[in-house]
Amino acid sequence: MPLNVKNRRKRGIRIAVTVLSGLLPVLLGFAILCMQAERTLQQSTRLTAEEAVHQFELMFDNTAEAARELLPLAGQRCNDVKLALREQVTRRPFVRSTNLVWDDSIYCSSLFGDYQEKINAGDYNQGQLLLMKGNPVTPDSALLVYRLSDGLRGALSALDGYHLSNVLRLIDRKTLLVLQVGPNWLSADGRFHDGALPLFAVAQNELASSRYAFTVAAGFPEGETWRYMKSEYPPLFSLLMFFGVVSGSIGHVLQKRAMSPRHEMQRAMEAAEFIPYFQPVVHGDSKQWSGCEVLMRWNHPKEGLVRPDLFIPFAEYSGLIVPMTRSLMQQTATLLAPLSASFKEPFHIGINITASHCKDLDLVEDCREFIQAFAPGSISLVLELTERELIEPTAMTHQLFEQLHGLGVMIAIDDFGTGHSSLGYLREFNVDFLKIDQSFVAMIGGDALSRHILDTIIELSAKLDLAIVAEGVETPEQSDYLTAHGVNFLQGYLFGRPMPAEEFINALSHH
Ligand code: C2E
Ligand code: CA
Ligand code: CA
Repeated sequence: MPLNVKNRRKRGIRIAVTVLSGLLPVLLGFAILCMQAERTLQQSTRLTAEEAVHQFELMFDNTAEAARELLPLAGQRCNDVKLALREQVTRRPFVRSTNLVWDDSIYCSSLFGDYQEKINAGDYNQGQLLLMKGNPVTPDSALLVYRLSDGLRGALSALDGYHLSNVLRLIDRKTLLVLQVGPNWLSADGRFHDGALPLFAVAQNELASSRYAFTVAAGFPEGETWRYMKSEYPPLFSLLMFFGVVSGSIGHVLQKRAMSPRHEMQRAMEAAEFIPYFQPVVHGDSKQWSGCEVLMRWNHPKEGLVRPDLFIPFAEYSGLIVPMTRSLMQQTATLLAPLSASFKEPFHIGINITASHCKDLDLVEDCREFIQAFAPGSISLVLELTERELIEPTAMTHQLFEQLHGLGVMIAIDDFGTGHSSLGYLREFNVDFLKIDQSFVAMIGGDALSRHILDTIIELSAKLDLAIVAEGVETPEQSDYLTAHGVNFLQGYLFGRPMPAEEFINALSHH
């Protein structure tokens, strides 16, 4: 169908829509997988942080136990208690050194015995924990000091940073972990830092201990989400690709269907774009309007008014011609029925039908409805069957034409002379009119042979006792010739072009 030759731009849009319908589920699925991966990583860092807090608490319990046992000894002479201090260091795996304090001064140490150093309770986070870069003995090895005090008495026990960094490193090798105590923090490589905590690019999680004054921060480096997806989601990626291809194909097929000529015509029918035009048929002698032929037009929203020869063949091929004709008949009845009273003799209304209308008896019902819409006897319905496509005489078609005749429907052979209907055929279907094809009318004024063919057709129909309609009458000369030869009805631009309903109804009142 020429209407459906789409230009390049439309093709481009179609490809874009296909690609988009394929890409959309892939992109959407990918975004969901990204979110899922981020959630999984969040959960993972939270669990790791929880585990690290738990491990640190167990270690600090061990260290705190030493301080608790030593606190009652604070105030006693160092010489008397230094062995007790050393015993704690030896017995407890996470105690590196112990000290006794009196009035914020260390006076006894497990390492040196008698020892003097002022301490500042404010340095300890919540008075309890202090993370140090090192001490005078091991200045480059971080350590954590636990402080317990009671009035002037105090006990300190220190834990080596080595154990702490081991926990940070070994709990989960992929997760970055740090231990924060007050303003200081320790990284997994055992290094001491002060100042703000580092910001992890992915799934940052901070968790404070409810029992000791420290916090653990966990997270992943930049790009971890994608690394995780690459290692965990390949089967899901394949599934996404599969969905993409399926969805793209569905998009493609749906578009093709929506753009298919059949779909386009179906749409046009639902949108009532097929409308009737009316061309008058006049009496050969008086030139009064004796009737009209209903000609279909496609009032296309973009292409404008489309000629029937561009779409009728496809309508026939796709089987849509039957409902299209039904709609045309209904529209015609609605438009012309109000004029019933003004028709002095039965007004001939010609409707074009095709062989596909003759496959069942539905046409009888359509014709009955059409006739009933008009005042009784005010019209004659004429079905025009083109001679180029003859109807096979079967039991079915006989029954059809019998019933049509019973309703008073008349039959015209359209384009007569261009096909090969036999005498038997004309009799079999009870034909009432012959419509001489316009190519013969155009021969008038031509050579003797052409005129002879036309004369023969006219003579033949006279002998068969059939009324004749001449189509395509464009000049007065043709009109005069046909009238002189006894042609009953004339149709052509000379008397009126096919016109829209309003114009036809207006003109009808003058004829
Ligand atoms: P047709 O049934 O032979 O209709 C007559 C065609 O000749 C119409 O063309 C009409 O406009 C044109 N015509 C009328 N007077 C003159 C004239 O003086 N000079 C010239 N050159 N042409 C004239 P249209 O309307 O374009 O229709 C073309 C064909 O499409 C029709 O030929 C008919 O076969 C088909 N058609 C139209 N409407 C329908 C319909 O509702 N159903 C079916 N099945 N076919 C239809
Ligand atoms: Ca016709
Ligand atoms: Ca014709």
